[in-house]
Amino acid sequence: MGEKETVLIVDDEETIRLGCKRILSKSGYNVELAATGEEGVEKVKNIHQDLYAVVLDLMLPGIGGMEVLKEIRKIDQDIPVIVITGYATVEKAVEAMKSGAYDFISKPFTPDQLRLTVGRAVERRRLKKEREMLRREMEKSLRDVAVEKSRVKAIVNSMTEGLMVTNAQGEIVLMNPRAKLYLGVEGDCVGKRIEEVFGEDSEFLKLYRETCKIQDGECSSISGELLSGDTYLKVDISPFREDSGDILGFVVVLNDITELKRLDQMKSEFVSMVSHELRAPVGAISQQLSLLLKGYVGDLTDKQREILERIKERCNGLLELVKDLLDLAKIESGLSTEYREPLDLKSVVEGIKELFQEEARKKNVELVLNVEDGDFMVEADRKSIEMIVTNLVSNAIKYNKEGGKVFISLGRKGDFVSLVVEDTGVGIPKEDLPRIFDRFYRVKSGETRKVVGSGLGLSIVKVLVDKLGGKIEVESEVGKGTKFTVLLPLK
Ligand code: ADP
Repeated sequence: MGEKETVLIVDDEETIRLGCKRILSKSGYNVELAATGEEGVEKVKNIHQDLYAVVLDLMLPGIGGMEVLKEIRKIDQDIPVIVITGYATVEKAVEAMKSGAYDFISKPFTPDQLRLTVGRAVERRRLKKEREMLRREMEKSLRDVAVEKSRVKAIVNSMTEGLMVTNAQGEIVLMNPRAKLYLGVEGDCVGKRIEEVFGEDSEFLKLYRETCKIQDGECSSISGELLSGDTYLKVDISPFREDSGDILGFVVVLNDITELKRLDQMKSEFVSMVSHELRAPVGAISQQLSLLLKGYVGDLTDKQREILERIKERCNGLLELVKDLLDLAKIESGLSTEYREPLDLKSVVEGIKELFQEEARKKNVELVLNVEDGDFMVEADRKSIEMIVTNLVSNAIKYNKEGGKVFISLGRKGDFVSLVVEDTGVGIPKEDLPRIFDRFYRVKSGETRKVVGSGLGLSIVKVLVDKLGGKIEVESEVGKGTKFTVLLPLK
């Protein structure tokens, strides 16, 4: 805006026209003049957008003031029209007001009266214009928001990933069609509680609740796998937070990994088949070697014995590898973790300590067991737990030093049982730590090279701990020792 407001004076008396113009120009208005009704109507037609008020004499030659008023109303409903009435013609003024005039002034009027009446009319018009502009702006912003919303909706709906968002109260805020398809949900579920939509026993709900437990700010997401109908899904659930760190809700992303699973299964079956085929001949070779070494088929020279012993050692390494590969294939097929029972870790750990006593003695390593009071019940299959503890304790002895120690401790940490296996051995270099749970990964150093191993033990431990819903962490310092901490959900 900023421009002057225009006021139109329609009067046949020149003195009045010019008088009004002088007064109103001084007040800062732009003043237009018309001497007849026809001229007035014409001007309104041309400049009604810029007009803020019309001062109209009712006693005009040609078309009369009332007629002009009606014409103005036809052109623009909102322009305030102030009628000038002659002496003692109140009825006329009332009639004009009924026909839509905004106000009236009677002749003779003072400059102040004119200024005041016109000022009020202009102000009214200005406010109306402003209100109209605001209304239009608001409509436009609402339209923009609606366009933006439908654009985001279109993008979310055409994603190949399933997407679901929940709020902090566990109500569904968004769920795209792909997520509904993957999770077998029908109808509109926005606004419903997640339990209502998925049912208490659903695997998805269990995974979701696991994520909801994350309140410490360390963990940014939880991933899991889910079988929904015939589809294997990878589920990533991440909390989204306010700047203060409070959780506002969760974003769930679902991916179909059925094809990857199928390839993985083919690979596992292949490895399992090859391992099976290898086990019998390698076992036979080992047995034949034992016969030779025991002297059943004649005496051996020292050199022959030395070579045969080395062959036997490599043969045992090969048997170990075959055993680990078969274990891994079995674990991955899910067979070993299917049967779960309530187990007290204390009895398992005590049994395994006894089992390793002889091996530790041979290496001059001391095994120390440290168990807190109470029981340490977990829901698991015995075989898996034994494999976890065996692999960790066996490594702690294998990679230890002469006269070293292995501390096995059991305790509780929140909702978890914590099993710690700590040794005073060779340690693991920092750069190797991130890969320590990878398959076939072995640290290449002078000390570890002498130790026979497949590089599969820790990957088996990791797969088992994951399957049981636990966590495993490792800390180590070269030359000082290594500490593995396993957390398993307390039953
Ligand atoms: P391996 O059959 O070689 O022992 P693992 O998967 O059990 O395979 O371990 C992988 C590698 O991690 C080992 O080769 C070894 O270098 C290192 N490692 C595992 N446990 C320990 C430990 N307690 N102390 C030092 N190094 C270890």
